[in-house]
Amino acid sequence: MKPGPAGLLLAAALLASVGQLTVLAAPLSAHGKVKVGWRPAQVRVGDVAWMEIQGVPDNAALEGSLGGRPLAFFPYAGGRAALVGIDVETKAGTQPWRLAVMTAGDPPQTIEGRLKVHRRDFPVQRLTLPTKMVDLNPETERRAVSEADQLRTLYRTVSPERFWRGRFTRPVGGTEPGTGFGSRRVINGQPKAPHTGIDFGAAAGTPVVAVNDGRVALVANFFFPGRLVVIDHGLGLYTLYFHLQEATVTDGDRVHRGQPIGAVGATGRATGPHLHFGAHVGAARIDPATLFELTVTD
Ligand SMILES: [Zn+2]
Repeated sequence: MKPGPAGLLLAAALLASVGQLTVLAAPLSAHGKVKVGWRPAQVRVGDVAWMEIQGVPDNAALEGSLGGRPLAFFPYAGGRAALVGIDVETKAGTQPWRLAVMTAGDPPQTIEGRLKVHRRDFPVQRLTLPTKMVDLNPETERRAVSEADQLRTLYRTVSPERFWRGRFTRPVGGTEPGTGFGSRRVINGQPKAPHTGIDFGAAAGTPVVAVNDGRVALVANFFFPGRLVVIDHGLGLYTLYFHLQEATVTDGDRVHRGQPIGAVGATGRATGPHLHFGAHVGAARIDPATLFELTVTD
């Protein structure tokens, strides 16, 4: 049976949309008047991704989610955009996304799609540490669990304002890329949670700077992270600076990109002086190095 003209048109439209997806880095796929684009072209486990929406009326409210995690949109380039975190322990495959456009007087419009998340292989890292830093006594164990809970609660708190702008700078000078994101750690023969930041080797006392504008959300001295600073960049984005020798900011301070916030040290569970730098988006633990690759012009 020969396909009718409608079938041919549909096939041509499908081919055109497939061709566009493979050629362009940030294609905007059309859903009625609303267009949706993703960056980078291939999103991997642990990446921060960028979702851009055009064609939503200015007066409309926009809600969205990826894999059930809510997204925080902000006005961008005449449309809306959101940072999207793909947690380090996400399984590769497709993740459903969903948008709801709500305009007063109209029924809400729902748009759905799927984002392919590519796999990324992480190394296994074997470390030997003093027994007292690994086999905790019950009191230390309780302390470490309560500190981890406090941090998780903080990362789930979404400030409604975007503080960050433009590109993200590195937290320490030099040219070495931070290493170790996603490593499955085996410490003294015991498998542990994946390493969810990157480590910068640097001499004790090396200045550490804020990677973008934000508000200091926490300065503390915790068992594993040691002296730490957490910066809230707004809309669910947090950056973390661990093992500091000292912190030179306090809770609530407004900081700017490149502003010193402390110095590299070896406090907490550290085998030597280094900066552990991490980032969370919507409570997803992402590779903070992918923030440096974002090209956001506003
Ligand atoms: Zn680390």
